[in-house]
Amino acid sequence: MKDKKLIKSGYTNPIRVSFPDDEKRHKWLQMLLSAYYVIDKGISEALKEEFKKGKKLACTKGCSYCCKTHETIPVYPLELVGLSWYVTEKIKGHNRDILKKQLKMYKHSDPCPFLIDSICSVHPVRPAACRQFNVFGSQCKEGEDPYYTRREDVLKPIKKYIDRAFFIMLPFYGINDENERVRVIETGGVHTIVKLLQDLNWKSLAEKMEEFDSKVG
Ligand code: SF4
Ligand code: SF4
Repeated sequence: MKDKKLIKSGYTNPIRVSFPDDEKRHKWLQMLLSAYYVIDKGISEALKEEFKKGKKLACTKGCSYCCKTHETIPVYPLELVGLSWYVTEKIKGHNRDILKKQLKMYKHSDPCPFLIDSICSVHPVRPAACRQFNVFGSQCKEGEDPYYTRREDVLKPIKKYIDRAFFIMLPFYGINDENERVRVIETGGVHTIVKLLQDLNWKSLAEKMEEFDSKVG
């Protein structure tokens, strides 16, 4: 039995996020958003398979222990460029003020600096790892990482979609040749450039936001 509420949701009917003017200016943004769309389609397919088996998704808006607990969220350089752009140019008002504070004060053990009032403030450009982390059954308990406590409840993303997303993104790293892109994906070479969200210097992003604000007035 299909869950009608979820069928209507972005989980099962992903749309490609679009910023037409910015994408005209930034080719990398086209790549990133197209890659995220492929990732989201893969998640949608994987979820539909699990729903057919009777599994129920536990993740809901506002449920955010994962954003507070996880200590090793992988993020690739192009994703960082996307986060930096979105935070600097698109987030306004109250969230902008809070983000600047959180980014300035961020310490490794803190919740993700992009989490505001239990909601992801960078949702359209959240990293692939965040998109892919979906849990079935019960919602995570405080401090729980179900990847370690109940891996059978964690969605397994479909590899071909992840590979396709990397294929789209690799030109950003100067790898344009299609055969070379396939090779870098198949050998896992693409993962040598990954960083951990928790290890990054987010203070410099807060400074970039302030610099942007001083220019636009
Ligand atoms: S992964 Fe766990 S904490 Fe995060 S939204 Fe899903 S159920 Fe909630
Ligand atoms: S980027 Fe968003 S979804 Fe990912 S950990 Fe941070 S707040 Fe959570």
